[in-house]
Amino acid sequence: MIPVRDDLRALEGYHSPQVDVGVRLNTNESPLAPPDAWRDAFAAEMSRVDWHRYPDRRATGLREAIAEFHDVSPDMVFAANGSNEVLQTILLTYAGFGRTVATFEPTYQMHAQIARVVGSTVVEGERDADFTLDPAEMKRVVESAQPHVAFLTSPNNPTGLVEPAERIEELLRLGSGLVVADEAYAQFADWSALSMLDEQRPLVVTRTFSKTWSMAGVRLGYVIGPTWFIAELEKVVLPYHLDSAKQIAGRLALRFVDDMDDRVRSIVSERERLAAAMGNMAIDVTPSGANFILFRPLSLPGRDVWQGLLDAGVLVRDCSGWPRLADCLRVTVGTAAENDAFLTALTRVLERDSS
Ligand code: PMP
Repeated sequence: MIPVRDDLRALEGYHSPQVDVGVRLNTNESPLAPPDAWRDAFAAEMSRVDWHRYPDRRATGLREAIAEFHDVSPDMVFAANGSNEVLQTILLTYAGFGRTVATFEPTYQMHAQIARVVGSTVVEGERDADFTLDPAEMKRVVESAQPHVAFLTSPNNPTGLVEPAERIEELLRLGSGLVVADEAYAQFADWSALSMLDEQRPLVVTRTFSKTWSMAGVRLGYVIGPTWFIAELEKVVLPYHLDSAKQIAGRLALRFVDDMDDRVRSIVSERERLAAAMGNMAIDVTPSGANFILFRPLSLPGRDVWQGLLDAGVLVRDCSGWPRLADCLRVTVGTAAENDAFLTALTRVLERDSS
């Protein structure tokens, strides 16, 4: 065996186990397939691709469509294979060996994971017990670690909490390097850091097609930021990293904004229905601005509830063994029928075991 890099030896991979069950509410995908008209348009364009040629290296059409959607200029947009690859490219460019990355835990595990894989030192700030972030903790972390990159996820994963704009302003004020607002779930929330972007400010916002756009299978994400930031990412990313199929898929998806808005509205209303029903049970429910809800059963260990749900054919995410999330589970908002199945199973599991 060839020894792996010393600093990678202690790292574990990021896993989201898939189990074959009827109701899968564990990975925050959209419960609905993309619109049929998108499928037809995609198939038609795919049949016209010059497959023997490399794709457009700058993904011009896709970037222009994303830029138009957000009312920014195309040189403020960089797209890659899922927002995970966007995050990786950002960290390769602005973090890496000898540099420090700040996260505020618990949050999306890939921020710290990718930062470590590219060789950075990770400094983890702590959230309060209700998962909100105390500005004094941000100050402590930034002043002691002087990070080159700091992450805030809004809405946060796995908590679902929306980060107030003041937290981002605070990070910028403290001078904590590049501030990355991960907005994978922002369409489900009531505000976005996009309005705070400015050529003079080291703030960037990442988005994905995996959730709202019903395109997790496509693997497409992007970042919007100052032009000087985007220009540096272009130097680091591999040539032709974004294949023709993705460029077409994303460009066409942006023609279906109304369908996307309808889906967001229905998922948000289902989320509120779920949260209200769960609020009447013996569980702590964290307020969510995303397409999922974090909850903690009060009468039973989280792991037992997870198993009980699985036995009833409903898979949710078991966060109960994760640091700072003892007994917590996370359910993705599904279709009304899937959510009903989840609520029925949850009621039964909680009743059975408290009797
Ligand atoms: N950021 C956050 C906060 C996420 O939860 C996820 C997906 N789980 C991602 C980024 C990555 O999304 P994708 O790579 O599918 O665009």
